[in-house]
Amino acid sequence: MLLKKITLLGAAVACAVVAGSAFAAYPDKPISVIVPFAAGGPTDVVARSLAQAMGLQIKGSMIVENVGGAGGTIGAGKVARAPGDGYTLLFHHIGMSTAPSLYRKLDFKPLEDFIPIGAVVDVPMTLIAKPQMTQTNLKDLLAYIRVNKEKINLANAGIGAASHLCGLLLQNAMKTELTTVPFSGTAPAITALLGGNVDILCDQSTNTTGQIKAGKVKAYAVTSKNKLANFPDLPPLASELPGFEVGVWHILYAPKNTPADVITKLQAGLQAAVKDPGFVSKMKDLGAEIMPADRQTSAGAKALLAAEIIKWSPIIQAAKAYAD
Ligand code: ASP
Repeated sequence: MLLKKITLLGAAVACAVVAGSAFAAYPDKPISVIVPFAAGGPTDVVARSLAQAMGLQIKGSMIVENVGGAGGTIGAGKVARAPGDGYTLLFHHIGMSTAPSLYRKLDFKPLEDFIPIGAVVDVPMTLIAKPQMTQTNLKDLLAYIRVNKEKINLANAGIGAASHLCGLLLQNAMKTELTTVPFSGTAPAITALLGGNVDILCDQSTNTTGQIKAGKVKAYAVTSKNKLANFPDLPPLASELPGFEVGVWHILYAPKNTPADVITKLQAGLQAAVKDPGFVSKMKDLGAEIMPADRQTSAGAKALLAAEIIKWSPIIQAAKAYAD
């Protein structure tokens, strides 16, 4: 009997040692960070900067993989079904909270299938237009859209993308229906805009800042409540459409069942990465705001996601903007 107890104790100690050493070794191979949009877009830009800064912190390599399509739901679904071993993560934005209302058939549950590691940045959006647009200010652009609504093509990065949400709010606020043209991410949408193949796009400043500063697209407004330091000449959309405000928050997730010690290590890496001076200055240049410390945690990020799911549901239902 005593011998059996000792053997059992020995086995438990051995297990603890194995588990401990497995964790100590994490990560011992590259971590794939799925971005559910095309490469070169605003979510991708932030994900790549974070992956670089965070990889240094956790002493491992974090490789961004783009799985675009259906407004981010294809990439998110892929991570929901991935093993919870810390080697497949998801970097997604506000679309995680709008998808359950937009998609009546969604193959993942945002609050149940993932463990948020922490929220990273909040990014304002900008209303931009093709270079050929002749209107010189927001008021004139909105008037032009109202009169020419049959002709206007509003681009987005797919149903459920932040650009889709912004376009939805714009059409609602203007009480105007426009033809929307979905892409697999902002990068191809901007290419179409630059070529004059679509007319307008509302998208994150993390991608549009460079195009606006280089004068390659026409810029008309920001979606933040107040003007932004990066664009002192651009009015908030709310100056013409009262109450219009949308910001694109981003969260890093692991699939459910990821061990708690892996989450803890990733969370510490995220919290240190967002203080990295290189990351901080890049985000500042692109108009992104680092999330407050209490959101850089699993609990804080989950509370944000849960609150946003509740916030957007009635707005999307009122707009009847379903994907199916
Ligand atoms: N900005 C895109 C969106 O509208 C996604 C992306 O390409 O990053 O959600």
